[in-house]
Amino acid sequence: MPRTLVVVGAGVSGLAATLHLSRVVPAAKVLLLEASDRTGGWLQTTRTEEGAILEHGPRGVRSAGTVGTNTLQLVSEIGLESELLPITYNNAATKNRYLFVGGKLCKLPTSVRGAFSRLPPFSQPLAWSLAREPILPRSKEEDESVHAFFTRRFGAEMADYAVDSLCRGIFAGDCRKLSVRSCFPPLFQAERSWGSVLLGMLVGSGAVKWDGAQTEVMKRARREGWAQWSLCRGMQSLPEAMEAALRAKGVEIHLHTPVTEIRPAADGGCQVLTEGGILAADHVFSALPAGVLGPLLPPAWRPLAQALGKINSVSVAVVNLEYEGRVLPVTVMMGGSWFTGAFGDPQKVSKEHLLERAKEAVQEHLGITGQPLTAIVKVQKDCIPQYGVGHWKLLADISEWTASHLVPLTLLGASYDGVSVNDCIYQAQRGVERLRG
Ligand SMILES: Cc1cc2nc3c(=O)[nH]c(=O)nc-3n(C[C@H](O)[C@H](O)[C@H](O)COP(=O)(O)OP(=O)(O)OC[C@H]3O[C@@H](n4cnc5c(N)ncnc54)[C@H](O)[C@@H]3O)c2cc1C
Repeated sequence: MPRTLVVVGAGVSGLAATLHLSRVVPAAKVLLLEASDRTGGWLQTTRTEEGAILEHGPRGVRSAGTVGTNTLQLVSEIGLESELLPITYNNAATKNRYLFVGGKLCKLPTSVRGAFSRLPPFSQPLAWSLAREPILPRSKEEDESVHAFFTRRFGAEMADYAVDSLCRGIFAGDCRKLSVRSCFPPLFQAERSWGSVLLGMLVGSGAVKWDGAQTEVMKRARREGWAQWSLCRGMQSLPEAMEAALRAKGVEIHLHTPVTEIRPAADGGCQVLTEGGILAADHVFSALPAGVLGPLLPPAWRPLAQALGKINSVSVAVVNLEYEGRVLPVTVMMGGSWFTGAFGDPQKVSKEHLLERAKEAVQEHLGITGQPLTAIVKVQKDCIPQYGVGHWKLLADISEWTASHLVPLTLLGASYDGVSVNDCIYQAQRGVERLRG
């Protein structure tokens, strides 16, 4: 294993990679370089004097599956267990899901009985689309859009209403452009292996089994039926605790240190250029968004930079509003794949305009009127990567090119194998493990 390791970007991916490196290669010198004045990347919270917690990035982390278990394990390790705020499957926030269609809120069925009733906006009971899915022929396509996949397996209404909203919620993206293979790998694999999404899901197709220890927090999450969790002082507590754990281990974290170039060195390692000078590294872990990393690479790595340039991201306006007499603040997220069409250039749009649009939406959808006590508008530029159809092939080409050219660089972060906080942490740890061999 190399001696000097540099991690670039201290979002949740870079922090997770650095923590894992400090655990598995304690003898190596590890440096974490971050351009801004704080760690955490998109995990950003405002804590008001009155005690409100306003999130400008992620607000909920799923507990299920290996990636969910892995994050809970990390939360325990860094001493945040007592700050967990679980939301169970029985909680109204989990059970009650609404779609806004044709100017009205439509509640999605929450019971088996509901699935057999005809509930708007669907023209048939959902049970009908589910019942015929296992007998439909399987596709031989290498990839297709999320919308095409769901239309084929569950019908056009399911794709147009439920799946379209799901993709807006997770990726702020357009299900007609997003790849099913890369955005929902277990569903794609279920059809491939079992000929049916439902059958495959029932037998747990493609699920990676958790092979680590069963800690108290995992047992509690299972016993109490946690669907998601947050943290009582906001999601920013997660990178804060990760940073504190790293500093306690003596890892060097350099804030205000934008990397300006990463290039090959004659000894097979890398040179990492910052405004302060040149760092020699045996290996670099980039936890930067693909579109940020590409321009930092040298002409010799142009094919890699070109491939990275094809992974685009969308911008999201996050508007937090607090109203008199309401216990919970309201968050409105707008834009995503439709940002430019709706608001123009994310760099130029006025915050007043975004605030007005958010207040209109809150009035129209939730019936909340009047002036908010607090309003914070953030334009999160290029914040969610979009995995278009064929993303898997792009990743395969990148991986082949970097391996065949012995590029001492590991790519981590939301641009590649999952955008959720869970995926970012899990993939960062796997990236470190791949280098260990
Ligand atoms: C509005 C929003 C809501 C979300 N909601 C959820 C949710 O509810 N649940 C969930 O699981 N996920 C959610 N996500 C997704 C998740 O938060 C992100 O995918 C994840 O935080 C990305 O982390 P990252 O470390 O890969 O990248 P980033 O957070 O982008 O981190 C990259 C870091 O690199 C730094 N950097 C940039 N350029 C340089 C440079 N030249 N040199 C050095 N450093 C540099 C940046 O300052 C940043 O700190 C949401 C995301 C957004 C934006």
